[in-house]
Amino acid sequence: MNNVKIKDDSSTLSSLVSRLSSDNPDDVKFMRMALRQAQIAFDMKEIPIGCVIVKDGVVIGKGYNQVEQLKDATAHAEIIAIGTAASTLDNWRLDGCTLYVTLEPCPMCAGAILNSRVSRIVYGSPDSRFGGCGTTIDVITGNALKRAVEVSGGVLADECLGLLKGFFQQMRLEKGDSGNKGDR
Ligand SMILES: [Zn+2]
Repeated sequence: MNNVKIKDDSSTLSSLVSRLSSDNPDDVKFMRMALRQAQIAFDMKEIPIGCVIVKDGVVIGKGYNQVEQLKDATAHAEIIAIGTAASTLDNWRLDGCTLYVTLEPCPMCAGAILNSRVSRIVYGSPDSRFGGCGTTIDVITGNALKRAVEVSGGVLADECLGLLKGFFQQMRLEKGDSGNKGDR
């Protein structure tokens, strides 16, 4: 995981990812769980993004992208995981929780993360198109809510990006090169 390569993106992005890469074994373990959620989305023909939320070493919430299935533009993996975590705790305040997601959260999800008081974000692949945690837009740093949220990126980035690339490749094959280009 130290050899993060993102062929399609600029060298600036690659250096950002390597700077942010984490060797924390717990981060890798929980990112693998998020990847399993992403695989569920893949199997349901949803853009494969998965998320788990962890508190004190225990998974308390999980979700995968369900925009197509639920016909809901807000049904991103993070939003669903935040909802299930709040149900588990019977509390919307997710202080002390770490959110693991396979793709850098978009601005909507970054906003939801701030509102839910998640303490830490760990993402897999950066999103050069719509990343809301520093790659395209930075919703987190210096936020108006004055919430301190730690952000780590690039954990299992190759696997996370590989799943997305495989999905779009498959969609193009199935739809004759007119597949979904990235909306979720
Ligand atoms: Zn999102």
